[in-house]
Amino acid sequence: ILGAAMAAVACTTIIALVLSLANHQTLDQPYSTQYGIVFDAGSTHTALFLYQWLGNKENNTGIVSQKQSCDVDGDGISSYVENPPAAGESLKKCLDIAKAVIPEGQRKTTPVYLGATAGMRLLKLQNQSLADSILVEVTKTIQSYQFDFRGSRILSGMEEGAYGWITINYLLESFIKHTFEGLWIHPKAGKILGALDLGGASTQISFTPKDPVKFPDSAFNLQLYGYKYELYTYSYLCYGKDQALKKLQAYLHKTAVPTSIISHPCYHKGNNVSVTLAELYNSPCVVKPDNFNPSAIVTFSGTGNSSLCLSLMENIVNLTDCALSPDCGFNGAYQPPVNGEFFAFSAYFYTFDFLGLAPKAPLTRVLSTIETHCNKNWTTLTAENPAIKAKYLREYCASAHYIMTILLKGYKFNNTWDQISFEKQVADTDVGWTLGYMLNLTNMIPSERSRAVTGVAH
Ligand code: AMP
Repeated sequence: ILGAAMAAVACTTIIALVLSLANHQTLDQPYSTQYGIVFDAGSTHTALFLYQWLGNKENNTGIVSQKQSCDVDGDGISSYVENPPAAGESLKKCLDIAKAVIPEGQRKTTPVYLGATAGMRLLKLQNQSLADSILVEVTKTIQSYQFDFRGSRILSGMEEGAYGWITINYLLESFIKHTFEGLWIHPKAGKILGALDLGGASTQISFTPKDPVKFPDSAFNLQLYGYKYELYTYSYLCYGKDQALKKLQAYLHKTAVPTSIISHPCYHKGNNVSVTLAELYNSPCVVKPDNFNPSAIVTFSGTGNSSLCLSLMENIVNLTDCALSPDCGFNGAYQPPVNGEFFAFSAYFYTFDFLGLAPKAPLTRVLSTIETHCNKNWTTLTAENPAIKAKYLREYCASAHYIMTILLKGYKFNNTWDQISFEKQVADTDVGWTLGYMLNLTNMIPSERSRAVTGVAH
Protein backbone atom coordinates (compact mmCIF):
# COMPACT_ATOMS: atom_id res chain seq x y z
CA ILE A 1 0.00 0.00 0.00
CA LEU A 2 2.80 2.34 0.85
CA GLY A 3 4.17 4.04 -2.25
CA ALA A 4 7.46 3.17 -3.90
CA ALA A 5 8.91 6.42 -2.65
CA MET A 6 8.66 5.18 0.92
CA ALA A 7 10.44 1.93 0.08
CA ALA A 8 13.21 3.93 -1.54
CA VAL A 9 14.01 5.93 1.60
CA ALA A 10 17.70 5.44 2.34
CA CYS A 11 18.36 3.04 5.18
CA THR A 12 20.89 5.37 6.80
CA THR A 13 18.36 8.19 6.96
CA ILE A 14 15.90 5.87 8.67
CA ILE A 15 18.41 4.75 11.26
CA ALA A 16 19.51 8.34 11.90
CA LEU A 17 15.90 9.42 12.39
CA VAL A 18 15.13 6.64 14.81
CA LEU A 19 18.37 7.09 16.74
CA SER A 20 17.76 10.79 17.09
CA LEU A 21 14.24 10.07 18.32
CA ALA A 22 15.51 7.47 20.78
CA ASN A 23 18.23 9.81 22.10
CA HIS A 24 15.75 12.60 22.44
CA GLN A 25 13.47 10.34 24.47
CA THR A 26 16.14 9.03 26.80
CA LEU A 27 17.75 12.40 27.44
CA ASP A 28 14.79 14.71 27.70
CA GLN A 29 11.78 12.58 28.55
CA PRO A 30 12.72 9.35 30.27
CA TYR A 31 10.29 6.48 29.83
CA SER A 32 8.10 5.74 32.80
CA THR A 33 5.75 2.84 33.37
CA GLN A 34 2.15 3.85 32.86
CA TYR A 35 -0.95 1.91 33.74
CA GLY A 36 -4.52 1.53 32.54
CA ILE A 37 -7.46 -0.50 33.84
CA VAL A 38 -10.44 -1.95 31.99
CA PHE A 39 -13.32 -3.87 33.55
CA ASP A 40 -14.92 -6.41 31.25
CA ALA A 41 -18.45 -6.64 32.64
CA GLY A 42 -19.52 -9.79 30.78
CA SER A 43 -22.81 -11.63 30.98
CA THR A 44 -21.54 -14.30 33.36
CA HIS A 45 -18.79 -12.51 35.23
CA THR A 46 -16.68 -9.39 35.49
CA ALA A 47 -12.91 -9.28 35.16
CA LEU A 48 -10.43 -6.47 35.71
CA PHE A 49 -7.45 -6.13 33.39
CA LEU A 50 -4.50 -4.02 34.43
CA TYR A 51 -2.27 -2.98 31.52
CA GLN A 52 1.14 -1.38 31.57
CA TRP A 53 3.39 0.29 29.04
CA LEU A 54 6.45 2.46 28.87
CA GLY A 55 5.42 5.87 27.82
CA ASN A 56 6.02 9.51 27.48
CA LYS A 57 4.46 12.19 25.35
CA GLU A 58 6.31 11.27 22.20
CA ASN A 59 6.06 7.54 22.37
CA ASN A 60 2.95 6.33 20.66
CA THR A 61 4.31 3.06 19.38
CA GLY A 62 5.10 1.52 22.79
CA ILE A 63 3.97 -2.01 23.49
CA VAL A 64 1.16 -2.45 25.99
CA SER A 65 1.11 -5.65 27.99
CA GLN A 66 -1.09 -7.17 30.66
CA LYS A 67 0.35 -6.70 34.12
CA GLN A 68 -2.44 -8.45 36.01
CA SER A 69 -6.00 -9.68 35.75
CA CYS A 70 -8.52 -10.18 38.51
CA ASP A 71 -11.80 -12.10 38.47
CA VAL A 72 -14.59 -10.36 40.32
CA ASP A 73 -16.44 -12.73 42.66
CA GLY A 74 -20.05 -13.52 41.79
CA ASP A 75 -22.05 -13.35 38.58
CA GLY A 76 -22.14 -10.67 35.88
CA ILE A 77 -23.33 -7.17 36.84
CA SER A 78 -26.61 -7.72 34.97
CA SER A 79 -27.55 -10.29 37.61
CA TYR A 80 -27.71 -7.62 40.34
CA VAL A 81 -31.26 -6.54 39.48
CA GLU A 82 -32.48 -7.00 43.07
CA ASN A 83 -29.55 -5.14 44.58
CA PRO A 84 -27.65 -2.77 42.24
CA PRO A 85 -25.37 -1.39 45.01
CA ALA A 86 -23.98 -4.92 45.46
CA ALA A 87 -22.78 -4.81 41.82
CA GLY A 88 -20.61 -1.83 42.77
CA GLU A 89 -19.48 -3.48 45.98
CA SER A 90 -18.40 -6.60 44.05
CA LEU A 91 -15.70 -4.64 42.20
CA LYS A 92 -13.82 -3.56 45.32
CA LYS A 93 -11.64 -6.65 45.75
CA CYS A 94 -10.15 -6.27 42.27
CA LEU A 95 -9.81 -2.49 42.54
CA ASP A 96 -7.87 -2.97 45.78
CA ILE A 97 -5.57 -5.47 44.07
CA ALA A 98 -4.92 -3.04 41.19
CA LYS A 99 -4.34 -0.21 43.65
CA ALA A 100 -1.70 -2.24 45.47
CA VAL A 101 0.18 -2.85 42.20
CA ILE A 102 0.16 0.74 40.91
CA PRO A 103 2.62 3.07 42.69
CA GLU A 104 0.80 5.80 44.62
CA GLY A 105 2.11 8.62 42.47
CA GLN A 106 0.73 6.98 39.31
CA ARG A 107 -2.83 6.27 40.47
CA LYS A 108 -4.31 9.66 39.65
CA THR A 109 -3.17 9.34 36.06
CA THR A 110 -4.29 5.73 35.61
CA PRO A 111 -7.36 5.67 33.33
CA VAL A 112 -10.13 3.24 34.34
CA TYR A 113 -12.93 2.13 32.02
CA LEU A 114 -15.81 -0.23 32.55
CA GLY A 115 -17.42 -1.78 29.50
CA ALA A 116 -20.48 -3.99 29.76
CA THR A 117 -21.46 -6.37 26.99
CA ALA A 118 -24.43 -8.49 25.97
CA GLY A 119 -25.71 -9.38 29.47
CA MET A 120 -26.33 -5.67 30.02
CA ARG A 121 -27.58 -5.19 26.44
CA LEU A 122 -30.27 -7.75 27.23
CA LEU A 123 -31.11 -6.19 30.59
CA LYS A 124 -31.41 -2.80 28.93
CA LEU A 125 -33.93 -4.30 26.49
CA GLN A 126 -35.93 -5.66 29.43
CA ASN A 127 -35.62 -2.76 31.86
CA GLN A 128 -33.56 0.28 30.95
CA SER A 129 -33.83 1.98 34.33
CA LEU A 130 -32.49 -1.11 36.13
CA ALA A 131 -29.58 -1.30 33.68
CA ASP A 132 -28.91 2.41 34.31
CA SER A 133 -28.99 2.03 38.06
CA ILE A 134 -26.45 -0.82 37.91
CA LEU A 135 -24.14 1.37 35.82
CA VAL A 136 -24.60 4.21 38.36
CA GLU A 137 -23.58 1.90 41.19
CA VAL A 138 -20.46 0.49 39.51
CA THR A 139 -19.51 4.07 38.60
CA LYS A 140 -19.86 5.20 42.23
CA THR A 141 -17.55 2.44 43.42
CA ILE A 142 -14.86 3.12 40.82
CA GLN A 143 -15.08 6.87 41.50
CA SER A 144 -14.41 6.23 45.19
CA TYR A 145 -10.86 5.21 44.16
CA GLN A 146 -8.24 7.79 43.23
CA PHE A 147 -7.91 6.66 39.63
CA ASP A 148 -8.71 8.66 36.52
CA PHE A 149 -12.20 7.24 35.94
CA ARG A 150 -13.27 7.56 32.30
CA GLY A 151 -16.76 6.04 32.34
CA SER A 152 -18.96 2.94 32.59
CA ARG A 153 -21.04 2.11 29.56
CA ILE A 154 -22.60 -0.65 27.51
CA LEU A 155 -20.61 -1.40 24.35
CA SER A 156 -22.48 -2.03 21.12
CA GLY A 157 -22.00 -5.46 19.57
CA MET A 158 -20.03 -3.88 16.73
CA GLU A 159 -17.65 -2.18 19.13
CA GLU A 160 -17.16 -5.45 21.00
CA GLY A 161 -16.27 -7.21 17.75
CA ALA A 162 -14.02 -4.46 16.43
CA TYR A 163 -12.07 -4.00 19.68
CA GLY A 164 -11.45 -7.76 19.89
CA TRP A 165 -10.04 -7.60 16.35
CA ILE A 166 -7.82 -4.62 17.29
CA THR A 167 -6.53 -6.48 20.38
CA ILE A 168 -5.47 -9.55 18.40
CA ASN A 169 -3.79 -7.66 15.61
CA TYR A 170 -2.11 -5.26 18.02
CA LEU A 171 -0.67 -8.12 20.09
CA LEU A 172 0.47 -9.99 16.99
CA GLU A 173 2.05 -6.77 15.70
CA SER A 174 0.05 -6.98 12.48
CA PHE A 175 -0.32 -3.19 12.32
CA ILE A 176 3.28 -2.26 13.02
CA LYS A 177 6.14 -4.45 14.05
CA HIS A 178 9.13 -3.79 16.27
CA THR A 179 12.17 -5.28 14.54
CA PHE A 180 15.26 -6.85 16.06
CA GLU A 181 17.18 -3.72 15.08
CA GLY A 182 14.79 -1.59 17.13
CA LEU A 183 12.87 -0.17 14.19
CA TRP A 184 9.11 0.06 13.76
CA ILE A 185 8.00 -1.21 10.37
CA HIS A 186 4.74 -1.96 8.65
CA PRO A 187 4.52 -5.74 8.26
CA LYS A 188 3.65 -7.51 5.04
CA ALA A 189 0.11 -7.06 3.85
CA GLY A 190 -2.15 -10.06 4.37
CA LYS A 191 -1.07 -10.79 7.89
CA ILE A 192 -4.19 -9.33 9.45
CA LEU A 193 -6.19 -11.88 11.46
CA GLY A 194 -9.91 -12.17 11.98
CA ALA A 195 -11.54 -12.47 15.41
CA LEU A 196 -14.17 -14.93 16.63
CA ASP A 197 -15.57 -14.24 20.08
CA LEU A 198 -18.11 -16.45 21.83
CA GLY A 199 -19.45 -14.82 24.99
CA GLY A 200 -22.31 -15.96 27.17
CA ALA A 201 -25.01 -13.78 25.61
CA SER A 202 -23.64 -12.73 22.20
CA THR A 203 -21.11 -13.86 19.64
CA GLN A 204 -19.03 -11.71 17.32
CA ILE A 205 -17.20 -12.24 14.05
CA SER A 206 -14.80 -9.60 12.68
CA PHE A 207 -12.45 -9.74 9.72
CA THR A 208 -11.18 -7.81 6.71
CA PRO A 209 -12.96 -9.31 3.69
CA LYS A 210 -11.38 -9.57 0.22
CA ASP A 211 -14.02 -7.30 -1.32
CA PRO A 212 -15.57 -4.12 0.07
CA VAL A 213 -18.30 -4.65 2.68
CA LYS A 214 -21.66 -4.32 0.91
CA PHE A 215 -23.77 -3.11 3.84
CA PRO A 216 -22.58 -0.10 5.84
CA ASP A 217 -24.32 -1.47 8.95
CA SER A 218 -21.66 -4.12 9.30
CA ALA A 219 -18.66 -2.11 8.10
CA PHE A 220 -16.23 -0.62 10.58
CA ASN A 221 -13.69 1.70 9.02
CA LEU A 222 -10.46 2.35 10.78
CA GLN A 223 -7.26 4.19 10.07
CA LEU A 224 -4.34 2.92 12.15
CA TYR A 225 -0.76 4.18 11.79
CA GLY A 226 -1.69 5.74 8.47
CA TYR A 227 -3.23 2.59 6.99
CA LYS A 228 -6.92 2.17 6.24
CA TYR A 229 -8.78 -1.01 7.18
CA GLU A 230 -12.34 -1.91 6.32
CA LEU A 231 -13.59 -4.40 8.82
CA TYR A 232 -16.68 -6.55 8.52
CA THR A 233 -18.02 -7.04 12.02
CA TYR A 234 -21.29 -8.52 13.18
CA SER A 235 -22.62 -9.35 16.62
CA TYR A 236 -25.35 -11.95 17.09
CA LEU A 237 -27.25 -10.97 20.23
CA CYS A 238 -28.78 -14.02 21.97
CA TYR A 239 -26.29 -16.37 20.27
CA GLY A 240 -23.64 -16.43 22.98
CA LYS A 241 -23.11 -19.87 24.46
CA ASP A 242 -25.46 -19.56 27.43
CA GLN A 243 -28.33 -17.93 25.57
CA ALA A 244 -28.02 -20.43 22.71
CA LEU A 245 -28.20 -23.36 25.14
CA LYS A 246 -31.18 -21.72 26.85
CA LYS A 247 -32.90 -21.50 23.44
CA LEU A 248 -32.24 -25.21 23.04
CA GLN A 249 -33.79 -26.00 26.44
CA ALA A 250 -36.81 -23.83 25.57
CA TYR A 251 -37.15 -25.61 22.21
CA LEU A 252 -37.04 -29.02 23.92
CA HIS A 253 -39.52 -27.86 26.54
CA LYS A 254 -41.98 -26.52 23.99
CA THR A 255 -41.81 -29.55 21.73
CA ALA A 256 -41.92 -32.21 24.48
CA VAL A 257 -45.11 -33.96 25.47
CA PRO A 258 -46.32 -32.22 28.64
CA THR A 259 -44.19 -33.73 31.36
CA SER A 260 -41.74 -32.49 33.94
CA ILE A 261 -38.93 -34.77 32.66
CA ILE A 262 -37.54 -33.97 29.23
CA SER A 263 -34.81 -35.89 27.37
CA HIS A 264 -31.77 -33.78 26.50
CA PRO A 265 -29.40 -35.43 23.97
CA CYS A 266 -26.59 -32.90 24.65
CA TYR A 267 -26.39 -33.70 28.36
CA HIS A 268 -24.52 -36.80 29.40
CA LYS A 269 -26.36 -39.96 30.37
CA GLY A 270 -26.84 -39.81 34.13
CA ASN A 271 -26.80 -36.02 34.34
CA ASN A 272 -30.10 -34.35 35.16
CA VAL A 273 -30.52 -30.58 35.12
CA SER A 274 -33.55 -29.01 36.83
CA VAL A 275 -34.76 -25.45 36.25
CA THR A 276 -37.88 -23.51 37.13
CA LEU A 277 -39.87 -22.19 34.18
CA ALA A 278 -39.21 -18.69 35.56
CA GLU A 279 -35.46 -19.30 35.07
CA LEU A 280 -35.91 -20.97 31.70
CA TYR A 281 -37.92 -18.06 30.32
CA ASN A 282 -36.13 -15.21 32.11
CA SER A 283 -34.51 -13.82 28.98
CA PRO A 284 -35.69 -11.79 25.98
CA CYS A 285 -33.84 -14.37 23.84
CA VAL A 286 -36.54 -16.99 24.38
CA VAL A 287 -40.22 -16.65 23.54
CA LYS A 288 -42.37 -17.36 26.60
CA PRO A 289 -45.19 -19.90 26.22
CA ASP A 290 -48.69 -18.42 26.54
CA ASN A 291 -49.56 -19.89 29.89
CA PHE A 292 -46.94 -21.15 32.22
CA ASN A 293 -46.45 -21.57 35.90
CA PRO A 294 -43.17 -19.79 36.74
CA SER A 295 -42.51 -21.93 39.78
CA ALA A 296 -43.01 -25.25 37.96
CA ILE A 297 -39.80 -27.26 37.68
CA VAL A 298 -38.67 -29.15 34.59
CA THR A 299 -35.84 -31.65 34.62
CA PHE A 300 -33.69 -32.15 31.55
CA SER A 301 -32.47 -35.72 31.63
CA GLY A 302 -29.26 -36.41 29.69
CA THR A 303 -29.36 -39.06 26.99
CA GLY A 304 -25.80 -38.45 25.68
CA ASN A 305 -26.68 -38.77 22.02
CA SER A 306 -24.03 -36.88 20.06
CA SER A 307 -25.56 -37.02 16.58
CA LEU A 308 -29.01 -36.03 17.83
CA CYS A 309 -27.47 -33.16 19.80
CA LEU A 310 -25.75 -31.88 16.65
CA SER A 311 -28.91 -32.09 14.57
CA LEU A 312 -30.89 -30.17 17.24
CA MET A 313 -28.60 -27.17 16.82
CA GLU A 314 -30.27 -26.41 13.51
CA ASN A 315 -33.45 -25.63 15.44
CA ILE A 316 -31.82 -22.73 17.24
CA VAL A 317 -29.56 -21.48 14.44
CA ASN A 318 -31.41 -20.58 11.26
CA LEU A 319 -29.22 -21.78 8.39
CA THR A 320 -31.73 -21.53 5.57
CA ASP A 321 -32.89 -17.90 5.54
CA CYS A 322 -30.55 -15.99 3.25
CA ALA A 323 -31.95 -13.17 1.15
CA LEU A 324 -28.39 -12.15 0.19
CA SER A 325 -27.27 -15.61 -0.92
CA PRO A 326 -24.46 -16.66 -0.81
CA ASP A 327 -23.30 -13.76 1.39
CA CYS A 328 -24.82 -14.87 4.67
CA GLY A 329 -23.76 -15.87 8.12
CA PHE A 330 -26.70 -17.39 9.97
CA ASN A 331 -30.19 -16.07 10.77
CA GLY A 332 -30.15 -14.30 7.42
CA ALA A 333 -27.40 -11.89 8.51
CA TYR A 334 -25.21 -10.48 5.75
CA GLN A 335 -21.65 -11.82 5.81
CA PRO A 336 -19.01 -11.73 3.08
CA PRO A 337 -16.91 -14.91 2.63
CA VAL A 338 -14.46 -15.42 5.50
CA ASN A 339 -10.93 -14.38 4.64
CA GLY A 340 -7.52 -15.25 6.12
CA GLU A 341 -6.56 -16.65 9.48
CA PHE A 342 -8.73 -16.29 12.59
CA PHE A 343 -8.27 -16.45 16.34
CA ALA A 344 -11.24 -17.87 18.25
CA PHE A 345 -11.36 -16.96 21.92
CA SER A 346 -13.52 -16.80 25.07
CA ALA A 347 -15.97 -19.77 25.15
CA TYR A 348 -14.58 -21.07 21.82
CA PHE A 349 -11.25 -21.46 23.58
CA TYR A 350 -12.63 -22.84 26.87
CA THR A 351 -14.53 -25.56 25.02
CA PHE A 352 -11.73 -26.57 22.64
CA ASP A 353 -9.10 -26.38 25.36
CA PHE A 354 -11.11 -28.73 27.58
CA LEU A 355 -11.47 -31.18 24.67
CA GLY A 356 -7.72 -31.08 24.01
CA LEU A 357 -8.32 -29.46 20.61
CA ALA A 358 -6.60 -26.09 21.20
CA PRO A 359 -4.94 -24.33 19.56
CA LYS A 360 -5.56 -26.41 16.42
CA ALA A 361 -6.66 -29.88 15.37
CA PRO A 362 -7.67 -31.40 12.04
CA LEU A 363 -11.41 -31.39 11.41
CA THR A 364 -11.69 -35.20 11.48
CA ARG A 365 -10.07 -35.32 14.93
CA VAL A 366 -12.31 -32.51 16.17
CA LEU A 367 -15.44 -34.34 15.06
CA SER A 368 -14.41 -37.69 16.52
CA THR A 369 -13.29 -36.12 19.82
CA ILE A 370 -16.63 -34.33 20.25
CA GLU A 371 -18.54 -37.52 19.47
CA THR A 372 -16.54 -39.58 21.97
CA HIS A 373 -16.91 -36.87 24.60
CA CYS A 374 -20.68 -36.46 24.16
CA ASN A 375 -21.30 -40.16 24.39
CA LYS A 376 -19.49 -40.51 27.75
CA ASN A 377 -21.71 -41.04 30.74
CA TRP A 378 -21.75 -38.51 33.57
CA THR A 379 -20.21 -40.80 36.18
CA THR A 380 -17.18 -41.48 33.99
CA LEU A 381 -16.83 -37.83 33.00
CA THR A 382 -16.94 -36.45 36.54
CA ALA A 383 -14.50 -39.12 37.73
CA GLU A 384 -12.09 -38.18 34.91
CA ASN A 385 -12.40 -34.44 35.59
CA PRO A 386 -12.69 -33.92 39.34
CA ALA A 387 -11.32 -30.36 39.16
CA ILE A 388 -13.78 -29.03 36.58
CA LYS A 389 -16.92 -27.29 37.83
CA ALA A 390 -20.08 -29.26 36.99
CA LYS A 391 -21.73 -26.16 35.49
CA TYR A 392 -19.01 -26.11 32.79
CA LEU A 393 -18.46 -29.86 32.50
CA ARG A 394 -22.08 -30.62 31.65
CA GLU A 395 -22.09 -28.11 28.80
CA TYR A 396 -18.94 -28.84 26.82
CA CYS A 397 -20.79 -31.33 24.59
CA ALA A 398 -23.60 -28.90 23.77
CA SER A 399 -21.24 -25.96 23.31
CA ALA A 400 -18.91 -28.01 21.08
CA HIS A 401 -21.79 -28.93 18.77
CA TYR A 402 -23.08 -25.37 18.85
CA ILE A 403 -19.60 -24.08 17.95
CA MET A 404 -19.25 -26.53 15.05
CA THR A 405 -22.69 -25.54 13.74
CA ILE A 406 -21.98 -21.82 13.68
CA LEU A 407 -18.40 -22.16 12.44
CA LEU A 408 -18.99 -24.70 9.68
CA LYS A 409 -22.57 -24.06 8.59
CA GLY A 410 -23.13 -20.49 9.81
CA TYR A 411 -19.89 -18.65 9.00
CA LYS A 412 -18.90 -21.34 6.45
CA PHE A 413 -15.42 -22.32 7.53
CA ASN A 414 -16.09 -25.76 6.03
CA ASN A 415 -13.26 -25.42 3.49
CA THR A 416 -11.00 -23.25 5.66
CA TRP A 417 -11.15 -25.01 9.02
CA ASP A 418 -7.36 -25.00 9.38
CA GLN A 419 -7.39 -21.19 9.35
CA ILE A 420 -8.87 -21.09 12.86
CA SER A 421 -6.73 -21.16 16.02
CA PHE A 422 -8.39 -21.45 19.41
CA GLU A 423 -6.45 -19.14 21.71
CA LYS A 424 -6.69 -17.47 25.11
CA GLN A 425 -3.59 -15.28 25.18
CA VAL A 426 -1.04 -13.66 22.91
CA ALA A 427 2.24 -12.49 24.48
CA ASP A 428 0.92 -13.24 28.00
CA THR A 429 -2.03 -10.92 27.42
CA ASP A 430 -5.63 -12.14 27.33
CA VAL A 431 -7.39 -11.89 24.00
CA GLY A 432 -10.70 -10.00 24.23
CA TRP A 433 -12.10 -6.57 23.53
CA THR A 434 -10.66 -4.80 26.59
CA LEU A 435 -7.17 -3.99 25.34
CA GLY A 436 -8.41 -2.70 21.97
CA TYR A 437 -10.94 -0.54 23.79
CA MET A 438 -8.31 1.03 26.01
CA LEU A 439 -5.84 1.53 23.15
CA ASN A 440 -8.53 3.32 21.20
CA LEU A 441 -9.83 5.52 24.01
CA THR A 442 -6.36 6.56 25.17
CA ASN A 443 -5.32 7.34 21.56
CA MET A 444 -2.51 4.82 21.80
CA ILE A 445 -3.07 3.68 18.24
CA PRO A 446 -2.63 6.88 16.26
CA SER A 447 -4.47 7.13 12.98
CA GLU A 448 -1.49 8.79 11.32
CA ARG A 449 1.83 7.08 10.82
CA SER A 450 4.21 7.99 13.65
CA ARG A 451 7.65 9.42 12.87
CA ALA A 452 9.11 6.24 14.30
CA VAL A 453 7.43 3.89 11.81
CA THR A 454 10.01 3.63 9.13
CA GLY A 455 9.10 1.35 6.29
CA VAL A 456 7.47 -1.79 4.99
CA ALA A 457 8.75 -5.32 5.50
CA HIS A 458 9.34 -7.23 2.30
P1 AMP B 1 -19.07 -13.71 29.06
O1 AMP B 1 -19.23 -13.72 30.55
O2 AMP B 1 -20.23 -13.07 28.35
O3 AMP B 1 -17.75 -13.18 28.62
O4 AMP B 1 -19.11 -15.23 28.56
C1 AMP B 1 -18.10 -16.14 28.74
C2 AMP B 1 -18.63 -17.51 28.38
O5 AMP B 1 -17.60 -18.44 28.66
C3 AMP B 1 -19.83 -17.95 29.23
O6 AMP B 1 -20.64 -18.79 28.43
C4 AMP B 1 -19.19 -18.75 30.33
O7 AMP B 1 -20.07 -19.72 30.85
C5 AMP B 1 -18.06 -19.41 29.57
N1 AMP B 1 -16.92 -19.80 30.43
C6 AMP B 1 -16.17 -19.02 31.23
N2 AMP B 1 -15.21 -19.75 31.83
C7 AMP B 1 -15.34 -21.02 31.37
C8 AMP B 1 -14.64 -22.26 31.58
N3 AMP B 1 -13.57 -22.34 32.37
N4 AMP B 1 -15.08 -23.35 30.91
C9 AMP B 1 -16.13 -23.27 30.11
N5 AMP B 1 -16.82 -22.16 29.85
C10 AMP B 1 -16.44 -21.03 30.47
